[in-house]
This record gives sequence, C-alpha cells and structure tokens, in this order.
Amino acid sequence: MITIVRNGEVYAPEYLGKNAIMIAGGRIEAVCKNISLKVPEIQVREIDASGKLVFPGFIDAHVHILGGGGEGGFSTRTPEIQISQLLESGITTVVGCLGTDGITRDLRALVAKARSLEEEGITAFVYTGSYRMPPKTITGSIQEDIILIDDIIGVGEVALSDHRSSHPTFEEFVKVVSDARVGGMLSGKAGIVNVHMGDGKMELDYIERLESETEIPKKQVIPTHINRNPSLFQKAIKYAKGGGCVDFTTSTVWRFIEEGEVKCSKGLRAMLEEGVDIRNITFTSDGQGSIPEFDRDGVLIGLGVASTKSLYKEVKDAVQIEGIAMECALRVITSNVADLLKLKKKGRISPGMDADLVIADSQSLDICAVIAKGVELVNVDMK
Ligand code: ZN
Repeated sequence: MITIVRNGEVYAPEYLGKNAIMIAGGRIEAVCKNISLKVPEIQVREIDASGKLVFPGFIDAHVHILGGGGEGGFSTRTPEIQISQLLESGITTVVGCLGTDGITRDLRALVAKARSLEEEGITAFVYTGSYRMPPKTITGSIQEDIILIDDIIGVGEVALSDHRSSHPTFEEFVKVVSDARVGGMLSGKAGIVNVHMGDGKMELDYIERLESETEIPKKQVIPTHINRNPSLFQKAIKYAKGGGCVDFTTSTVWRFIEEGEVKCSKGLRAMLEEGVDIRNITFTSDGQGSIPEFDRDGVLIGLGVASTKSLYKEVKDAVQIEGIAMECALRVITSNVADLLKLKKKGRISPGMDADLVIADSQSLDICAVIAKGVELVNVDMK
C-alpha cells in the first residue's frame, strides 16, 4: 500500500512549504509539490493535511522505558512505559536506559522492552550500563555489547557529580568513553556515552577534562539534565559554545523551576542568544523517571513520574512563548538527535528516510496524527 500525505506545511525540519509526501514500504519515497498516481492496481491511502504542519517523528533519547526510581524504597519504583504514552507524545524513536537501579532492573529486560516497542510499531534502541561505573553489561564488555547487540547504541546513563553516582575516578570514566567510542566505530554506531549530571560540585569537570587530557572528540559524550540548576546551566552554555553537545531534560515540576531549574524553552532561547550553535542542543524527556517530592525537612512525601509529553510541550513553548522559529526549535527533538546518535534514517523528512511523521494543527500545534514506519498509529483529528 502507498500512503500520500497531501497539503501539509512540511518542516523537514527546515521549512519546505506545502508539499505532498509519498510513503511506501515504511519509507519516504518522495517529497514534492504534487504527486499523482494513476495505477488502479495500487491501493493508495490519502491523508489530507490541509491546515496542518508535518514534522519528522520525534526522537526521545533518554526514557526509562522499563520504569525508574526506587530511591525512596521499593514502593517508589515507577512503572514501565506503554506504547500509547510515546505515541501521544509524538515519539516514534526512543532510546531506553536504566538509571540509579541497575540491580533490580536488568539490561536483558531493557532490551526485551525495546523489542516489544519495536513490535508495536515504533523504533527503539537502548544504552548499556546504568548510573554506576564500571557499567554492568550483557556480554561482559561495553565494546561487545555495542558491536554485537543491534539494539545497543551507546552507554548510559552513567552518573557524575551526584550523590547517587559511583564516584568514578577520571581514568575510570575515560575508560568507559573510549570503550564506547571504539565499539561505535567498529559497528557503525554512535557509541555515545549519555552522562547524567547531578547537582554536585564537580559539574562538567570530567567532561571538560576529556577535551584537554585525551584525544576523544567532544561529541562522544552527551551530558544530560544540564538545565537542573543555574550554575550547571552556565557551564553548559560555555561547553556548547566550545563545540560540545548538551541535552536539556524537559520533564519537571513547577517547584523545581521555582528553585532555579531552567525551563527548557527559556533555556533554549538563552543558549541561542549566547551564540550556541543549535546543532549542539538536544532535548530529552527522562520519561518514567521519578520526580521525588520532599517536604521542608527533606522527608520524601510523594513521587511523580516524568512524562514523555513534556518533550514536545517544551518545543511548543519555545515557539509559542519564546518566539523561536519552528524549524529551529524542532531540531532539538529531530535532526540534531539523529545526527548525534548516528540514526541515519531518522529525524528528517526526505526520500529514503523512515516514514516517521507527526502531523500537528497549524494554530494550536497540538498533535493530530502520528505515522511510524509508514503506519498511521495515532489519528486524533484527521481524515
Ligand atoms: Zn538522570
């Protein structure tokens, strides 16, 4: 079957104007002003995207797909994600990771969960390891995991500058990054290391030292949660201006923002105003991670669950509130992520790419339909 999406304003993510998109076999075959197919034997599904915007499917490269949390005891573990949560967030590619808990949550289960999401229609990868170093792996080595297991594209999230980190030496950290790099080189994958940045004093120290003390390229690591406090955010601006990539975490609660966390849409504008290259910025949701609530005495009083919906919400806010151009803001959840993670068929609307699309209302920007690998999996308000 062939699907043609007509009359939508296409952001590839660069603005292409009104175009028709032809999809066959799960791939984008053509993007052009007009497509006419007059072969009676071929079944064609027409989708009318008049009054709509068409984006590449979103990529969320940091989701606790197996659930996370547990830092307040077993009852504070968060649940596995459901495919419906990802789809209603416009996410057609996800990277799953473990977090603090690499004991009761297991990499084999993580791979199985990723494969279940694939079976349900989206694209899913995972990171090997968890917060701790040396990372636990499936095969016994980071290189072998990345080279031999298709689902595994890097290491993460390893924790630095955090009381829950394993407090590795710089040399231990370098070893992990260099193993990931060589694993990635030998398998044609990114071999990236996703680094959880905590609220600790070390901030980006190890990541900055990678540049001054090793030959490892900056984009081998991606520090995440860089918007969690103003001091770390300032360091991240400097690092990104120098050519490093930085990742914002979109899920939050208002109390954190009141306490100094930088709201992603505002932080994106601040970085662009500081002259950071947009290509060095990505957003992820940290979906299904726990958001602990403490009272004034530091006693845990409740636990929220991070939502993948925050990913696109912050891009919308960047456009609607901060006045950033859609084609610029969109990149942080599409092409930038695909480039960083070397996902060659993802993040763009162009012939030969996987047919992952999000169709949104041109006024409200709300999601109306989601197509993953050529299949329409969400249709809220479309013919
Ligand atoms: Zn984290």
